[in-house]
Amino acid sequence: MIEFKNVSKSYGELQVLRNLDMHVEAGEKLALIGPSGSGKTTILRILMTLETINSGHVMVEGDYLWHQKVNSELVPASEKHLRKMRENVGMVFQQFNLFPHLTAIANIEQPQILVKGVDKSDATNKAQELLKLVGLEEKQNHYPHQLSGGQQQRVAIARALAMDPKIMLFDEVTSALDPELVEEVLNVLRVLAETSDTTMLTVTHEMNFARDFADRVLFFEKGQIVESGPPEEIFRNPKEERTRNFLKQII
Ligand code: ATP
Repeated sequence: MIEFKNVSKSYGELQVLRNLDMHVEAGEKLALIGPSGSGKTTILRILMTLETINSGHVMVEGDYLWHQKVNSELVPASEKHLRKMRENVGMVFQQFNLFPHLTAIANIEQPQILVKGVDKSDATNKAQELLKLVGLEEKQNHYPHQLSGGQQQRVAIARALAMDPKIMLFDEVTSALDPELVEEVLNVLRVLAETSDTTMLTVTHEMNFARDFADRVLFFEKGQIVESGPPEEIFRNPKEERTRNFLKQII
């Protein structure tokens, strides 16, 4: 469960989120769409604790993210609290950010061992299982430079999943890929959306993918949700003029 309550966020003079209210049920699959600069990535970065907020509250899995209760008073979160909260969330970025000196399988094993203290053999089993899920069991001993961009991104997805996050965030995961490699990555995400109970949020400019992936699409403009609904409603019959105009330009 994720809850944004009256959240505002500025970078210097630029206000990116304006009194944002957003509620995401456990297990929901959301696509965040909207014009460039509307604040979509900022929302993911706040959930990943890579950006702070200026006002309001964010709750994740029933606990405050940026605040904590001390003697029933709400105070800014400590680094320890943020570290604990971060364990709920996994994120896959535009750039795959794999460790270049580690093989595909070691990239998936290492965070499990280092961050979660999992045994090496358990980490290996899980990594193999996940490499199979993303269709790369044959490539487990390849280094990132021996993999295509699409394959590297699939390893990055497996690596994030290996940490068993309650929430997965995908930020334009295909935008750094050559066009012919986009579908193989999107297909992995389509399968995940269908088979996983994990709450998932994706920022995407691929509307066909958003339609397949999402239970609900949120259309953002200027740091606010203009419209939210099931994909068939948003794409076939948007209520808001601003949503219609955006979709006309992009589809
Ligand atoms: P896109 O679809 O282009 O990725 P977005 O909706 O995800 O856009 P954000 O990345 O959240 O938008 O950015 C919102 C605005 O904040 C943009 O104008 C961006 O330039 C600005 N911005 C983002 N990060 C920073 C930063 N660290 N410092 C200053 N400005 C920033």
